[in-house]
Amino acid sequence: MQCPFCGDGPMVRETRDMPYEYDGHETVIPQVTGDHCTACGEWLFSDKESDRIAAAMLAFNRSITAARS
Ligand SMILES: [Zn+2]
Repeated sequence: MQCPFCGDGPMVRETRDMPYEYDGHETVIPQVTGDHCTACGEWLFSDKESDRIAAAMLAFNRSITAARS
């Protein structure tokens, strides 16, 4: 599969821990699987994985916001 972002690099299926930062706080979203462009470094995720990542980010954001108030 060719990268839809740069149209150049091949996409490679990879699973890795994804670092995420919100408001100066860092966390890691574990075991994220997606297609990774070896040329430009962009990631492409399935709908299901996108939902899981978004949910993990939202939960982390909420925990930061809750701890502040
Ligand atoms: Zn690319």
